[in-house]
Amino acid sequence: MGEIIKKPKKFKIEPNLKNYEEMYKRFDWDDFYGEIEWFEGKKLNAAYNAIDRQTKTWRKNKVALYCDGDDGEHQEYSFLDLKNLSNKFANILKEYDVSKGDRIFVFLPRILELYVSFLGIIKTGAIASNLFAAFGTNALEDRLRDSGAKIIVTNSELKKRVDEIKDKLPELKHMIIVDGEGTDEDIDYKVEMKKASRDFEIEQMDPEDPLFMLYTSGTTGKPKGIVHTHYAILQEHLSMKWVLDIHEDDIYWCTADPGWVTGIAYGILGSWSNGTSSVVYGGRFSPEKWYSVIERRQVTVWYTAPTAIRMLMRSGEGSPKNYDLESLRYLCSVGEPLNPEAIHWALNVFGLPLHDNWWQTETGSILIANYPSMPIKPGSMGKPFPGIKVSILDDNGKELPRGKKGNLAIRPPWPSMMKAVWRDSKKYKSYFKKGWYISGDVALIDEDGYFWFIGRSDDIIKTAGERVGPFEVESALVEHPAIVEAGVIGKPDPIRGEIIKAFVSLKKEYKPSAELEDDIKQFIKKRLAGHAYPREMEFRDSLPKTRSGKIMRRLLKAQELGLPIGDTSTLEENGL
Ligand code: ATP
Ligand code: MG
Repeated sequence: MGEIIKKPKKFKIEPNLKNYEEMYKRFDWDDFYGEIEWFEGKKLNAAYNAIDRQTKTWRKNKVALYCDGDDGEHQEYSFLDLKNLSNKFANILKEYDVSKGDRIFVFLPRILELYVSFLGIIKTGAIASNLFAAFGTNALEDRLRDSGAKIIVTNSELKKRVDEIKDKLPELKHMIIVDGEGTDEDIDYKVEMKKASRDFEIEQMDPEDPLFMLYTSGTTGKPKGIVHTHYAILQEHLSMKWVLDIHEDDIYWCTADPGWVTGIAYGILGSWSNGTSSVVYGGRFSPEKWYSVIERRQVTVWYTAPTAIRMLMRSGEGSPKNYDLESLRYLCSVGEPLNPEAIHWALNVFGLPLHDNWWQTETGSILIANYPSMPIKPGSMGKPFPGIKVSILDDNGKELPRGKKGNLAIRPPWPSMMKAVWRDSKKYKSYFKKGWYISGDVALIDEDGYFWFIGRSDDIIKTAGERVGPFEVESALVEHPAIVEAGVIGKPDPIRGEIIKAFVSLKKEYKPSAELEDDIKQFIKKRLAGHAYPREMEFRDSLPKTRSGKIMRRLLKAQELGLPIGDTSTLEENGL
């Protein structure tokens, strides 16, 4: 698929970032401090910037949160509502001796109380964190023990899982139960909220004070507890404006759960800091439900992930036609490589391309992106965010010329760069080499300065003397009409070093067969260089994925080679 050229005359709204190249050249963080509000003496608070500052303007009564549930119930909350509710919650925390630096974890589905608690925690100066509601006891124990969480905010159903491991959590003092059905030892959210004052003196923080911590997705190994600072809000704010291109009248839907970094940086902090009206859908995924959220809320800007897009693609092109999706004006994707096929599909179905962007839990905000005003090269992650220097290094830390594959590295610091790996300074230090932050991903820069993702360093396949990235092979596979999803690994081979093995799952209307396998192999042979061709193929109903929807190639490989499968705390159920 060729380049997608933008036609400025066709934009429904003029992009916030009108000329990327020019901005990149002249950008200086010093020019943008005023994008967020500071207290006296260079102090700030990210929750104040997200919510309270909006209530000093006409946005006070603007809808901040449209909360939609599975069974059709829906509610709306203004910025003023969120200010008052989070102040009340902060007061409850104070009553239970929460102070700066304490870790307070929220373990809830996507309901109002999750957002209120998260903001309230930040207002007290404590460190907030979210736990994905589907986590089992092992995943919980790892994270709650490692972080030394003092309070957990949860509901009566999820609390049962914490109860099972409570004995192993010496630092845990209280549980706050939001649906009021805890035991006598627990704190009843509803009762306390009723009593609590709406006034709260927000803790004024230093830029480098911790804001939230979050465990990585666990795609490549044991999740790491990444700590971010209040200063991160500046970059989250600016990238929301320039990459997500948010405007005053937009209705924005970030589909990521706040248990993952996207759901925090662009579902709470950066989004509300721009005064955005945000949709939260708390229910389960189904194409019909998702399309009806867009229709009901008239969503204009949509930030989602390749795994969701592939599931929508799997349901066929027919189903979106039953909904009015005309409100959409701008689409973005993150979390995994975005196959060109998905961009093509979006153009077909919505008349709009998907804009891929790249970042990590550790980087705290989007660092490489496709911008609304810039042509898209399908399959490319785009170009570095203004103020961010990104390069490709060889294994000795030497910068490589354009066109060469190597380690994707960033020049530190930047405002939303992680401050620490919780209780693991050795791990933190291991990210930095020769003045660079090493991302662990392999990429290349083309002649026009666009970045192309090749794969995770651990997933790169060495076959017949060549380095092959799984993404390239997977993208070719998903172009085949029968294939929805593909995961590709290197399998040791005495002659070639490694051979390429592909695991594929099929669209509903296709069944595995020897003929289909043959057909796919022929199809791939025409598209890829001989050495990149998968010699082995296996059909699977689905591929193992993390709860944030990333294909776990390390698990496919471990299964294939009969090796220990390692940490699976983030593995989606039925992923194996
Ligand atoms: P862990 O670090 O625990 O193995 P993880 O790396 O999946 O898990 P995250 O921080 O959630 O945890 O994900 C960041 C990673 O996701 C990136 O390093 C990259 O490999 C992948 N990723 C994110 N966005 C993109 C993208 N647009 N294209 C390609 N890969 C992406
Ligand atoms: Mg990672």
